[in-house]
Amino acid sequence: MKKLTYLILTFFSATAFAQEVTQDRVKSVISTLASDEMKGREIGTPENENAANYIAKLFKENNLEYCTGDSYLVPFDYKGKTVYNVCGIKKGKSEKTVGFSGHFDHIGVSKRVGEDTIYNGADDDASGITTLVGISDYFKNQKPEFSMVFMAFNGEEKGMLGSTAIAADKNLDKIYTNLSALFNFEMLATESEFGKNAVFITGDEFSDLDELMNSHSENGLKIHPDPYASEQLFYRSDNVSFVKKKIIAHSISTADMSKIKHYHQVNDDISVVDFENLTQIINSFGKTLEKLTPKNFNPKYNDKVKFN
Ligand SMILES: [Zn+2]
Repeated sequence: MKKLTYLILTFFSATAFAQEVTQDRVKSVISTLASDEMKGREIGTPENENAANYIAKLFKENNLEYCTGDSYLVPFDYKGKTVYNVCGIKKGKSEKTVGFSGHFDHIGVSKRVGEDTIYNGADDDASGITTLVGISDYFKNQKPEFSMVFMAFNGEEKGMLGSTAIAADKNLDKIYTNLSALFNFEMLATESEFGKNAVFITGDEFSDLDELMNSHSENGLKIHPDPYASEQLFYRSDNVSFVKKKIIAHSISTADMSKIKHYHQVNDDISVVDFENLTQIINSFGKTLEKLTPKNFNPKYNDKVKFN
C-alpha cells in the first residue's frame, strides 16, 4: 500500500496537470469578497484590509511566491495610512511573465438611510479578483511555460491609487522587465453582449494581444474588440499605470454598459453574478494560457497607442 501511494505521488509530482476550476470555488471566492461583512471594501477601512488578507490567504494556498519582501501585501501610503496591494508570483519554465490583475477595493457604505446600504461590488470588481484567483487555481499543480504575476489592486475607486503605486514600486522592477502582457480583469460577472464565454478587451486597436489570444483560443474563448471604445476605458482603468511603462496592458470585461443597472449601485451584489459563465471564462483563459509560450506569444503595441 505504501509503495502504491509512493508511486501515485511520484506520478502526480512528475506530471503537470491542470485543474479545472469549479463553480463552487468561484461562488465561494466572489461571495466572500462581496459579503456584507466586507462592507464594500473601501480603501482605508478595516474591511478593506480584511479583503487584502483574504486574497493573500488564497495566494498562499495556491503556493504563490511573494513579489517583494516577506509578504503578499505590498504597502503604500493613503492619507498618511499604510494600505496594501496584494501580489503573488507563480514561477514558470521561463522568466518571461504574464500578469493578471483586478481591483479588490470598492466604494464602501452608502450614507443614505435604507434597507441596503452596502455597496458589495460583486461585479465591480470582486468578479475580476475571482478571475485572477481562478487562474492561479487552474495552474496550482503545474509549472506553466510563462511565469505568472497576480496583482490585486487597492484604491481604484479613488483614482487608481493602488495600481499607480505598485507600478512605480522599484522593488518589482525585475518582474516588470520580464512582463510580456498584463490582463486587467474589470467586471466579468455578467454575460457580455457577445454571449457566453466571450469578453471584450479595451484598446484592442493598440496591440495584437487580442489577435494572439484568439489565434490560440481554447474552449471556445472569444475576445472581442471594445464595443464602447468612445468611452476610452483603455486610458481610464488600472491597466493604464502599466501602459505608461510601455508594458502591454489591457482591461478585459463583460460589462454591457448599455444594459447593466448595478454600476456603482447597492444592488451590485451576488445576485447579479452569472456563476456558470464566469467559471467557464476562467477555465477558458486557463486552457488558452496553457498553450502560450514565449515563442508563440509576444504581443506588441503599434504606433496608435499614447503612452502618456
Ligand atoms: Zn471597477
